[in-house]
Amino acid sequence: EAVVAMEGVGLRYGNGPEILQDVSFTLPGRSFHFLTGPSGAGKSSLLSLMYLARTPSRGRLSMFGRDLALVPRQTYPALRRSIGVVFQDFRLLDHLSALDNVALPLRVAGVGEGEIRRHVPELLAWVGLADHLDARPSVLSGGQKQRVAIARAVINRPQLLLADEPTGNVDDRIAVRLLHLFAELNKLGTTVVIATHNESVVRTFRFPRLHLEQGRLTRLPPLADAGPAG
Ligand code: ADP
Ligand code: ADP
Repeated sequence: EAVVAMEGVGLRYGNGPEILQDVSFTLPGRSFHFLTGPSGAGKSSLLSLMYLARTPSRGRLSMFGRDLALVPRQTYPALRRSIGVVFQDFRLLDHLSALDNVALPLRVAGVGEGEIRRHVPELLAWVGLADHLDARPSVLSGGQKQRVAIARAVINRPQLLLADEPTGNVDDRIAVRLLHLFAELNKLGTTVVIATHNESVVRTFRFPRLHLEQGRLTRLPPLADAGPAG
């Protein structure tokens, strides 16, 4: 069962040129892919189609087996709740603490406060933020904000996790630790797509690549010198 299926998808902004052209691929459930390619190739745009922020200008996009052209708009919020997203610019809520930012998806899902108090601090500790539970995003560094954003995206074990350059603000050691978190989530059943420029991350984890060049997508095997998967 495909979690994402694109067939001949094109995307343009306004009257501009197509910045994604004839993109076709499927992501099987429980798969893990890197999304690679130079800056401007269309990685963020491709992710935005998969988290339903944009609609293809042409072609067909199915999510969780449902053709989006046939799904009423009112059901998008429900679909989005099964998708975790790590945005390149984090998009944390500035008036909420780190803990409350991460708790948000759980509160939206109606999870009880007891469970929230158990799980959220544990996850924030795992990403190295045990001492920053009550901190507002404005006092955190870029790397710390990024880890809050990652914790928020994974806290409710989404069916699909999409991350845009999720290790862009941390050093390689932390980057690999965060990738292990994504790999754990993947083992529990989440389909994962990670857009990244981080060569050491791509070489450390033997996952296949979706590669974009000037809006055209090709599938590439894992980088050859990688060690064991995961
Ligand atoms: P990236 O590192 O992925 O290339 P950018 O810095 O190009 O990111 O883009 C950051 C944000 O600005 C994104 O939300 C993107 O959609 C938007 N953006 C990028 N290029 C343009 C553009 N030419 N016109 C309007 N918005 C843009
Ligand atoms: P990447 O993530 O690979 O850097 P993007 O998807 O951010 O690529 O951008 C692909 C192309 O689309 C770039 O030429 C960028 O300037 C353009 N673009 C991105 N977002 C917008 C936007 N909101 N409006 C217009 N052009 C955009």
